[in-house]
Amino acid sequence: MSEPPSGKNEGIGVTGAEAEAFRARAREQIPSDVLAVCRRLRAAGRQAHLVGGGVRDMLIGRAPADFDLATDARPEAVLELFGRSFAIPTGLKHGTVTVLTDGPRRPVEVTTFRGEGEYFDGRRPSSVTYVDTLTEDLSRRDFTMNAVAFDPIDGRLTDPFDGRGDLARRLVRAVGDPLIRFREDGLRPMRAVRQAAQLEFEIDPPTLAAISATLEVFRKVSAERIRDELFKLVSAPRPSHGLALMQTTGLLGEVIPELLEGVGCTQNRFHKHDVFEHTLAVVDSTIGDAVVRLGALLHDVGKPRSRQPREEAPGEYSFFKHEYVGEGMADAICRRLKLANADRERVTAMVRNHMFFYAPEWSDGTIRRFVRRVGGPEALGALFALREGDIAGRGFGENPDDELGELRRRIAVVASADAALKVTDLAIDGQDVMRVLGIAPGREIGAILERLLERVLDDPSLNTREQLEALLPGLRDPKS
Ligand code: ATP
Ligand code: MG
Repeated sequence: MSEPPSGKNEGIGVTGAEAEAFRARAREQIPSDVLAVCRRLRAAGRQAHLVGGGVRDMLIGRAPADFDLATDARPEAVLELFGRSFAIPTGLKHGTVTVLTDGPRRPVEVTTFRGEGEYFDGRRPSSVTYVDTLTEDLSRRDFTMNAVAFDPIDGRLTDPFDGRGDLARRLVRAVGDPLIRFREDGLRPMRAVRQAAQLEFEIDPPTLAAISATLEVFRKVSAERIRDELFKLVSAPRPSHGLALMQTTGLLGEVIPELLEGVGCTQNRFHKHDVFEHTLAVVDSTIGDAVVRLGALLHDVGKPRSRQPREEAPGEYSFFKHEYVGEGMADAICRRLKLANADRERVTAMVRNHMFFYAPEWSDGTIRRFVRRVGGPEALGALFALREGDIAGRGFGENPDDELGELRRRIAVVASADAALKVTDLAIDGQDVMRVLGIAPGREIGAILERLLERVLDDPSLNTREQLEALLPGLRDPKS
């Protein structure tokens, strides 16, 4: 079970000034609790190597996000070594035990050296096979930059596939034959474009070509695994890079084919770009979490299907009601990608509400109605982020504050006045309505509260118990 002595195995025990500099940096970046886990494994006569994203990040001078460990110890041995309260069998099927470190109780995934299991349908390996050497474990990893290991106890860097060379060349390159590797696991192409987006790397040409050649395997991957990668892709500083790679490889046509309808879909004098190019620019310029970015990606998805020539302006088009067409399409896309219901609703609300146009004539009541219509104060952040991205995405260098500043300031004034914007902000509730009017629970209660809110949106000073209770008799449904 022991490692071949260094020197025999190509790439083992990298030396030189560069490796020395890395070791010095790593000593500063690897937290002591993670080191303690390695030391414990080593003290038990086992190997312990940091692998994957953490090592890659340190190699390119980024702060490592998490630390995964590879060991020759079998999962049962890891469980025994750390004890059941600090070692959790999170992924025994895949050879993974999650160890909670001393002190900060940071979860570190400790995975036994693995080979490729047998793959069916390009999905996850159907069974896990353990291997004896680190190099065998590294050879089943997806990309060369993710197949570098670092043993922090000995300071030994192991890089059998020249991952550091590809990092220097800024290339995502499959370990081994990309066609074989993508047929084993159809998710890998999506991981390639996601990581290229995150790191602003290119994809090595043979690896890139293999993506288009194995789309039939990609089609079998579960929506959940694709969604997780897509979320990471759109969270990259410049998602357009990854989205463009998805388009050219054919992945976009598999994941969100609706977006391709925007390619070559020209617009009008207000837009420099076609709908697709505009969309990519908006995603890059929209600041927010993955769901907000996804809302940006889908905000104009309904435009191609709503496009109408403008009679008064030959060669130009209008997109009447595209936000509603888009809302329906976005809903279907989010369901297909198995988004959580709350995330789907945030996305569709952004699509539906992105076409607002403030005018100085708006009364304070109109401002309050606007806030209520778009889903309340919580929905405003995403909507304004999208609109700022949208303005930048028009490509004329306009200042978003010209369009949004006044509305933003007026909303702030209304909000600081503590005005009611939703039914639950009212001074009375459904119980009060039933008591005062002497009616039983039912739909009418909600309808009456809505009517009360309408009054209060126009005149916030009405929002006291006495005044609202006095209004109630006049708000009963005439039919009931
Ligand atoms: P990040 O955590 O920043 O998203 P990562 O590279 O650490 O990036 P993980 O999904 O955490 O990605 O996976 C950890 C490591 O496991 C990868 O670096 C890679 O070596 C390996 N790996 C993950 N998924 C696959 C896969 N589908 N095929 C082959 N190797 C994989
Ligand atoms: Mg990781």
